[in-house]
Amino acid sequence: MQSFEWVDAESVEHAVSLLGEGSERQPVVAKAGGMDLLDLMKNGVMAPRRVVNIKTIKGLDGVRFDAKQGLELGSLVTLARVSREPEVRKRFVALADAAEHAATPQVRNAATMGGNLLQRPRCWYFRYDHFHQAGGDDVERVREGQNQYHAIFDNQRTVMVHASTPATALVAYGASVELTGPGGKTRLVPVSEFLLPPDMKRSTDTVIAPNELLTRVRIPAPAAGTKSAYHKQGERESYDWPICDVAVVLQMDGKVIRQAAIAMGWVAPTPRRAAEAEKLLVGKTLNEELARQAAKAAVNGATPLSKNAYKVPILEAIVRRTVLAAAAA
Ligand SMILES: Cc1cc2nc3c(=O)[nH]c(=O)nc-3n(C[C@H](O)[C@H](O)[C@H](O)COP(=O)(O)OP(=O)(O)OC[C@H]3O[C@@H](n4cnc5c(N)ncnc54)[C@H](O)[C@@H]3O)c2cc1C
Repeated sequence: MQSFEWVDAESVEHAVSLLGEGSERQPVVAKAGGMDLLDLMKNGVMAPRRVVNIKTIKGLDGVRFDAKQGLELGSLVTLARVSREPEVRKRFVALADAAEHAATPQVRNAATMGGNLLQRPRCWYFRYDHFHQAGGDDVERVREGQNQYHAIFDNQRTVMVHASTPATALVAYGASVELTGPGGKTRLVPVSEFLLPPDMKRSTDTVIAPNELLTRVRIPAPAAGTKSAYHKQGERESYDWPICDVAVVLQMDGKVIRQAAIAMGWVAPTPRRAAEAEKLLVGKTLNEELARQAAKAAVNGATPLSKNAYKVPILEAIVRRTVLAAAAA
């Protein structure tokens, strides 16, 4: 690891101005929990000249719920806190469960919402520094290589998947992130547009600018009758990255589904909405057969790689079970 300068930011403005002094050759990066950043620095994937510690900024660790405005999470709120915060548990079950099932208790105690959304892919080709030094380009090499955990949809240009599992729930809830730039200027970007297909040649897989800070995550207030569920399917129950994860948000009128959002993570470069399946559900009464049809529609069009076709039936089963679990919540 090369040596670097460490600065404790005093405010959002201070952090933004320090980040703005970076360049492509002399990058300046933010550090929240440091769980991903330090891994990347140790692996030689990132070599910043300055690290801006944003944990010293006050006011970015709040959780607020308002019946009109919805939920606001400061970017420094940890995953552990999201998983047990009463308003999140009560009204945004899929997010609370996604946070609770990410990583390990130790990681969740340090990892922040902002850093989680900005973490880089877990693709082993991406994280292998010698591959980077060789000027690696993932697509052709991974397509023929160890692609067990890679994308089964939209995998023509990249086969890597976004690592964040809370992002799957956030996409299903229609959440947005607040980005703050120079002069305190903020912009609100839907999480579905914030995340970009991972790219080894870029320094981020999001639309954040080098001189912006992710300051808040916002979720609209749920309509009456909203229910949700989340499931992360790994190879084992203890901490592990998922084979796939699914978040379902249903707005129910008695037993009839009025609106449906199904988001699927770790199966496409960014969390993918199962639009066909959602259409099938709307206006109908949910039963086992309808859930089965929706799950079949959700995996329609999958284009698995040489070693990950096993993900397709697993995803289908998880969509079916999560839709049923959301309606029963
Ligand atoms: C064993 C293990 C298992 C894991 N399993 C999961 C899992 O199942 N699901 C999952 O989602 N994750 C998982 N993770 C990853 C972990 O959750 C992330 O590394 C963590 O959430 C990153 O958050 P952080 O606050 O530590 O970010 P940092 O490491 O501090 O930052 C990550 C990136 O975001 C940038 N950044 C951070 N905050 C901001 C901000 N506010 N504004 C602008 N830029 C910012 C940093 O510059 C850096 O590039 C796992 C990790 C480990 C070690």
